[in-house]
Amino acid sequence: MVLEEIPGKVSLAVDVSNCPLRCPGCHSPFLQTDTGEELTTEVIDALIADNFGVNCFLFFGEGQDDETFLDLAWHIRDNYPGLEIALYSGRTEVPNPYWRVFNYIKLGPYMEKYGPLNKPTTNQRLYKVEGLRRIDITPQIWKHGIDPIVTGATPTRP
Ligand code: SF4
Repeated sequence: MVLEEIPGKVSLAVDVSNCPLRCPGCHSPFLQTDTGEELTTEVIDALIADNFGVNCFLFFGEGQDDETFLDLAWHIRDNYPGLEIALYSGRTEVPNPYWRVFNYIKLGPYMEKYGPLNKPTTNQRLYKVEGLRRIDITPQIWKHGIDPIVTGATPTRP
């Protein structure tokens, strides 16, 4: 459970492995491998049941299978109306269908010279999605000052 990655939200966060990116200085190189337990709708249901009180489900990474990944996000959207859904992506852009299911999307790889998401120099951007609009709320992260280790994102999950 994390508090700062999505401003104003208590997020249940899960790491998604098999990241196709190779950011120099990656905070968690093991996430570049196909490792861990398969994330299924049943696993998500159990995680949500075990973490009463969260109001956002946050994916740190999205693996390499967009279709299956989107199915998981839609499962949350369809079954948990009280939860918002967020993604920390290392990509500079995600496919259009992502913008229809997620409430928040962080874009951009970790680039050492620009620093992590909690630095005003960062190349990464956190967007709040409102209909067809994406609103850059990255400055809210700077204001709250997230811990780059907890955020996974040392600087950038994924
Ligand atoms: S996107 Fe994240 S997990 Fe993937 S290589 Fe970059 S820093 Fe590592």
